[in-house]
Amino acid sequence: MTWPRGASAGPEGPTVPAPAGVAAVAAGAEVAAGWSVGLDVGGTKTLGVLVAPDGAVGPSVRLAARRGGDGVAGTAAEAVRVLVAEAGLPAGSVAGVGIGLPGIVDPVAGRVEHAVNLGIEAAVPLAAQVSAALDGVPVRLENDLNVAALGAAHLLPDPAPDLAFLALGTGLAAGLVLDGRLRRGASGVAGEIGHLVHVPGGLPCPCGQRGCLEQYASGGALSAAWPGLGDRPAPVALFEAADSGDAGAVAVRDRFAGAVAAAVRVLLLTTDVAHVVVGGGVSELGDPLLRVVRARLDDEARDSAFLAAMHMAERVTLAPRGVPVGAVGAALVGRKES
Ligand SMILES: [Zn+2]
Repeated sequence: MTWPRGASAGPEGPTVPAPAGVAAVAAGAEVAAGWSVGLDVGGTKTLGVLVAPDGAVGPSVRLAARRGGDGVAGTAAEAVRVLVAEAGLPAGSVAGVGIGLPGIVDPVAGRVEHAVNLGIEAAVPLAAQVSAALDGVPVRLENDLNVAALGAAHLLPDPAPDLAFLALGTGLAAGLVLDGRLRRGASGVAGEIGHLVHVPGGLPCPCGQRGCLEQYASGGALSAAWPGLGDRPAPVALFEAADSGDAGAVAVRDRFAGAVAAAVRVLLLTTDVAHVVVGGGVSELGDPLLRVVRARLDDEARDSAFLAAMHMAERVTLAPRGVPVGAVGAALVGRKES
């Protein structure tokens, strides 16, 4: 798969220039309105990006997170102001702002609740708060996985993208864009495959079950199984130890790869999406992660003509690096392209 609007460097603050090939569009003076801003709000940082009226991805910004409804709203408004000021856009250029965030998000009412990582418990009317701080610019909210899936879909060359965005972060879940449209589900839990039982009677999960996939295939699971050393992230420490021949590390890595492969298999068998895009913190490992997951999928297909015919390994890819995928998807939500 190619990521035509991608870049190779990681996003670092305070502002990051547009990916290659975008600057000429961003500088185009003929477009004075219709820009949108997307924000991806996480527990430690808020990533923001400007998206041009033609969909080109502009500069981005990274701000430290503040907790609570007022903190999240204040940081969101600040990110928008910083992006607009540094891009030199005239007043009134931003047609809409989209915000992707964890927790239970009501996109219609513009409220979020139970976003524990953000210090939000009771429902907060975040869209209205941020809009008020930005002189009435329309603000829309969406679940963080959904914006990541939309962002990945936007960055594909396919006009009707069909993909699952598999986030391997603290937890494990997927966002779905099916036949070009976001699939939220009847009750908003489409893609929550982290709570499928992977090991019957296995590790306890906060959801109340035992052996959930999330306990084996997430970044959190990996850190629990192989704690990082000092400032070395657990995934990096594990893969290095496995590469150096540590038998314990090889076993942990292979068990992890098997669990990620199971997640991919579930997504392909239930939705038959064209692509499974792996993102989240663990995906920072890059190609070594992709290699072990693809190898596992190929192993499983060896004894099954049915699985072999699905070409599972070929359909797995990594989220583009150097582009804030979730923030890009949020910008599309901000201009109602979801
Ligand atoms: Zn669970």
